[in-house]
Amino acid sequence: MMMSQVKTARAPSHSRASMRSTRCQAATTTSKHTVTKSAEIMKEAQDLLPGGVNSPVRAFKSVGGGPIVFDKVKGAYAFDVDGNKYVDYVGSWGPAIVGHASDEVNEALIAQLAKGTSFGAPCALENELAKAVIDAVPSVEMVRFCNSGTEACLSALRTMRAYTGREKVLKFVGCYHGHADSFLVQAGSGVATLGLPDSPGVPSASTAPTLCATYNDIESVREIFKANKGEIAGVFIEPVVGNSGFIPPTKEFLQALREITEEDGAVLCFDEVMTGFRISYGGAQEHFGVTPDMTTMGKVIGGGLPVGAYGGKREIMDVVAPAGPMYQAGTLSGNPLAMTAGLKTLEILRRDDRAGYKHMDRQTKKLVEGILELGKKHGHAMTGGSISGMFGFFFCEGPVNCFQDAEKTDTAKFAKWHRGMLEEGVYLAPSSYEAGFMSMAHTDEDIEFTLKAADKVLASL
Ligand SMILES: *Cc1c(COP(=O)(O)O)cnc(C)c1O
Repeated sequence: MMMSQVKTARAPSHSRASMRSTRCQAATTTSKHTVTKSAEIMKEAQDLLPGGVNSPVRAFKSVGGGPIVFDKVKGAYAFDVDGNKYVDYVGSWGPAIVGHASDEVNEALIAQLAKGTSFGAPCALENELAKAVIDAVPSVEMVRFCNSGTEACLSALRTMRAYTGREKVLKFVGCYHGHADSFLVQAGSGVATLGLPDSPGVPSASTAPTLCATYNDIESVREIFKANKGEIAGVFIEPVVGNSGFIPPTKEFLQALREITEEDGAVLCFDEVMTGFRISYGGAQEHFGVTPDMTTMGKVIGGGLPVGAYGGKREIMDVVAPAGPMYQAGTLSGNPLAMTAGLKTLEILRRDDRAGYKHMDRQTKKLVEGILELGKKHGHAMTGGSISGMFGFFFCEGPVNCFQDAEKTDTAKFAKWHRGMLEEGVYLAPSSYEAGFMSMAHTDEDIEFTLKAADKVLASL
């Protein structure tokens, strides 16, 4: 793997797109599918917002063509400014797990709105959401709410450093933990190496203590721990990878990681910003039966409003200010509006013995198995998988066990596939290196519609 100019940097997908120098192209128009208004809005946005967007992956850089500008969302669907309707498998990148703009969540929000959106003082709703999270997530005995997944991860890192008095941190190639300096690390060649900054502006001093191992390769972890004995504050891992495409771990890998960190006195943190409340109500740690020391959360936990959270063992969380000396704060943290959206979303997810997860599990299986079968029918090398509400596939032979494997995917083919599906009314994540998300609102008809579109598009690739 090269450590080269910014353009080819091995960045996590959310930052990768920002590093390309090409400008966002105007949206295309086909006979069936007109996106003129989207194109106009994006053209204006180019002069107002860097790259026309407020988060890089939205710019469609890795698939080409212009982004679709949304007008509204409801249930399993997104509607663009040109009046096109899409079956949406992005779900705002995860939060829309009970379906977009759920009436129940909206009603709860409207009721809270009348009482105020932000107090900057304690409110009882913070206790309610904290109790729900502590009940749900095995590793969490105490929790701190913040405003994004990035904030949760950078705060959890500071906490593990404060708790252990150590500075080094181990992450995995291709895993994304938000855009804090320490995590923006490019993988060098070889199995395990010291990190160098991924993005200009990140001082090398910030990433020097960041070590990178290979996902699903426990020997790469052992080697790093051997070479840095007693110096690693902790390990961050996506317990199911979603930021280099969908890559599940083996249970043995997670278990071994648990043992190695325990032996060394390092803190194990599952970054469940994506997987939390998504692959199961208790997250990946519940699904795999491996309990970390700390957990970061985001996305689903805010039910569509900006919320992040980090939590863990009481003795670790006790270092967080004002209980302890590790400083972290937030003007809007725990605001009643965001807490309300999270609470109502979790309530819906718990309902009827967590029936929503069974539904999503069925739907993702049907979708992924269907697409893989169609891929075979049309002669494409494809591999993929799913766990409950999270899924993904690659245009290459499997298995894909780590980022290096994922890089074999045919990105040019993916770009055509993505554009083709969009024109058929299916909204997929605009990158080969992103997972897909199912919601409780996706019906059998939606899946059938999607498979019909896939049949047509795969035949044309
Ligand atoms: C999305 C994501 C983040 C960052 O969360 P933001 O809310 O976008 O800052 C961190 N970690 C993982 C695993 C994510 O998927």
